[in-house]
Amino acid sequence: MKHVVILGATGSIGCSTLSVLAAHPDRFRVLALTAATGVDKLFAQCQQFTPRFAAMQDPAAALLLQKKLKDAGSATEVLSGTEGLVALAAHPQADIVMAAIVGAAGLLPTLAAVEQGKTVLLANKEALVMTGELFMQKVAKHGATLLPIDSEHNAIFQCLPLPMQQAGHLTRLSEHGISRLLLTGSGGPFLNRPLDSFAQITVAEAVAHPNWTMGQKISVDSATMMNKGLEFIEARWLFNCAAADIQVVIHPQSIIHSMVQYTDGSVLAQLGQPDMRTPIAHALAFPERISSPVQPLDFFTLQSFTFKQPEAARYPNLYLAMAASAAGQGATTALNAANEVAVAAFLTEKIAFTTISKINEQCLNYFQSYQASSLDDILALDAETRAYARQLLGML
Ligand code: NAD
Ligand code: MG
Repeated sequence: MKHVVILGATGSIGCSTLSVLAAHPDRFRVLALTAATGVDKLFAQCQQFTPRFAAMQDPAAALLLQKKLKDAGSATEVLSGTEGLVALAAHPQADIVMAAIVGAAGLLPTLAAVEQGKTVLLANKEALVMTGELFMQKVAKHGATLLPIDSEHNAIFQCLPLPMQQAGHLTRLSEHGISRLLLTGSGGPFLNRPLDSFAQITVAEAVAHPNWTMGQKISVDSATMMNKGLEFIEARWLFNCAAADIQVVIHPQSIIHSMVQYTDGSVLAQLGQPDMRTPIAHALAFPERISSPVQPLDFFTLQSFTFKQPEAARYPNLYLAMAASAAGQGATTALNAANEVAVAAFLTEKIAFTTISKINEQCLNYFQSYQASSLDDILALDAETRAYARQLLGML
């Protein structure tokens, strides 16, 4: 029996994880569930999965949850704040920690799980983008098992040879006969929209992804392709490779989830429905396989597969992320922070869709040569960039 902690249980990935766990009560037990503020949803999840612990980032929400659970006769113990999340991520009884908080807020609990050598299922790509080398060093030092949940990285992982899956980022692609990774992306909802209408894009249009149902932040990132940019940085760390080893390929149907090209001319791809319960089930059971509630592919009803290059004018954020990746850790930390501020401003209708990349670009230009190697440096740079981005927003 494996004990599972879900950080970000009430989100899109959290709910998909619980859906897979619910189908395998013989293999998994939910030890703890956490969320930011959504008391009613976490309460309902606690009633269904009876975890030993729950935690809410917001102390007032935690008190409310505690009262509701007590009134319902539940034995679930409630913690709060970042300390509460960190304590649960590092709990001695936890075997698997699903890191599914969105954004930089997930960094400290995810690192806490890594530092306890847990099996960490990484959905929270921002944590890795922010800390890169430090994160991977901690994985190696503490013997944690890091399994990618992002569908592209999970697909690549599944297409790697077994020795590379086992050695993780400690070996290089070329040692395994791999020539490059093909990172696929749908191109989002604006793949064919005329560029001269981008300034009028509404929030509702931006979060309506053609193939995937996801949280709001990653939906906007998918529309700008910042998501693919963050994934490019994520792939460089997870698979220990150079920028030239990764090609971003637009595949609008989202059935191929990424591919690995070998030196002998072979290309291995992982295919499936655009449903995160497949990569989640893969990582939960790895190296075994378990069933998931996802419908199998029916090749006779699939549309044809198409591929194209991402245009720079349509997706400036993708190219900013690639530039940040080349510039180094300070640049990627700053870009991630700027993007979180800019996307939040777009979601609250304070800025136009096209302003997101402008804020990101200005922050990247300002901070790209900053060095950030220790956790303190990284957190300070994250805070400084957020302040600068808010200042830029204030000047609009
Ligand atoms: P979401 O917005 O649906 O859920 C986020 C979760 O994090 C919620 O449970 C929320 O309560 C919690 N949370 C938010 N802010 C917090 C804070 N300050 N402190 C503590 N908890 C907080 O997001 P999502 O779509 O599930 O995405 C989660 C992560 O997974 C993101 O990093 C995203 O990039 C990544 N991811 C998501 C998908 C997807 O299909 N949704 C796919 C690949 C990767
Ligand atoms: Mg992805």
